[in-house]
Amino acid sequence: MSEFLKEIDRAFQSAWHASKGGDAAWSSVMQTYGAEPLPEVDKETLLNSEMKITRGAFPIELRRVMEKIAAKHPNDAKDFAMDSKVFEYYQKIKPFSGLGDIFANASTGTAKYSQGLKKEKHSTMKCKNCGAPRLEEMQYDNCMFCGSALFVRTD
Ligand SMILES: [Zn+2]
Repeated sequence: MSEFLKEIDRAFQSAWHASKGGDAAWSSVMQTYGAEPLPEVDKETLLNSEMKITRGAFPIELRRVMEKIAAKHPNDAKDFAMDSKVFEYYQKIKPFSGLGDIFANASTGTAKYSQGLKKEKHSTMKCKNCGAPRLEEMQYDNCMFCGSALFVRTD
């Protein structure tokens, strides 16, 4: 295993072993790499969203650390599938309820939510990597949950 993949694996394990939403040990991993943590207010939003996690740091934070590792090993990182690795991680921290059950896990306001979902079926944009809906009231180009690009950049 290359030094690059070893480092990726270490980061993956640290994120996975962190408590739900991250903890002090994970914060220090992020700090070591100079990766920017999610603002507390965004963590709150995500913890209350329908993108349920049972443990571990948020996928987007693992992505930020893996991006720093990739920048350190540009040659090894050329063929690295960042989105799939982030998705693999998400599969490990989500509740065991099978694929496509994201919406069934909404603990509060399920009926209200599905109503809203029906109404906004054609306008709600979902992340192609993890399925998180884009929050309409906020402006951002990358999925808040996993960090995957939501839009194709034209510049
Ligand atoms: Zn996503």
